[in-house]
Amino acid sequence: DPVVRTVNLVKIYQNGGVPVPAVRGIDLSVEPGSFTAITGPSGSGKSTLVHMLGGLDPRTSGEIWMSGKRVDTLSESAWALLRRERIGLVFQFFNLIGNMTVADNVELPALLAGATPREARERREYLLGELGLADRADDSPTRLAGGEQQRVALARALANRPSLLLADEPTGNLDSRNTRDVLRLLSQVHKDGQTIIMVTHDARVASLADRLVTLLDGQIVDDGSIPAPRRRP
Ligand code: ADP
Ligand code: ADP
Repeated sequence: DPVVRTVNLVKIYQNGGVPVPAVRGIDLSVEPGSFTAITGPSGSGKSTLVHMLGGLDPRTSGEIWMSGKRVDTLSESAWALLRRERIGLVFQFFNLIGNMTVADNVELPALLAGATPREARERREYLLGELGLADRADDSPTRLAGGEQQRVALARALANRPSLLLADEPTGNLDSRNTRDVLRLLSQVHKDGQTIIMVTHDARVASLADRLVTLLDGQIVDDGSIPAPRRRP
């Protein structure tokens, strides 16, 4: 079964009574272990799509399936459980917990997913180390710069080794050195067989993906799966 499958997925916001169609009939199937980059101009529905896939924004109509199970009809609490067990999220509002250290923010999802304290600590040390944040472990996230918070959010999203990583512009605030660290970690996650769906404008990030889906006005206008190697004539 695909990790994610949508059937005629639609989202129409109501803006003071005026309907704003954000996603207009998306059929998307994502295979286990694949890395899909989603691109398209501002306002084309990318964020809305990944928010719906993470259960953060209810659909207007259509279906969402995950690994053979229909999920668009789940309750809030069932979504919360699904995220805890299987999905890592990196969105633009990082939602880091200000009165906990960076280390605790990253360890928490691992602990909630059933890791022992020692496993959670080792995973946190690995992730913060890979992202150049080892010396920030004891700080409050509120003391960090935007790009640092963004990397902490990525570490937190990966702490429970989610089978699906959903990310919205995870390199949006990063300089080239930090982007390189993030790219290296994403390559590793992909190699480990985790599925990635990522909104990005960054060609370096997109180049890691094996599929590039382009949205325009809430619809898929291009779906560039990497073709099989071309045979010589
Ligand atoms: P993208 O991520 O590609 O920039 P979005 O998914 O953020 O696109 O937005 C798609 C469309 O939906 C835009 O027209 C945007 O203004 C609108 N939109 C997004 N969120 C809301 C919201 N909460 N209420 C009303 N309209 C929204
Ligand atoms: P993103 O690129 O993630 O959509 P935005 O800055 O466009 O980020 O949106 C920030 C927040 O405002 C999001 O929660 C989004 O859903 C909401 N939003 C976006 N467009 C609109 C809109 N036209 N009306 C109301 N809320 C919106």
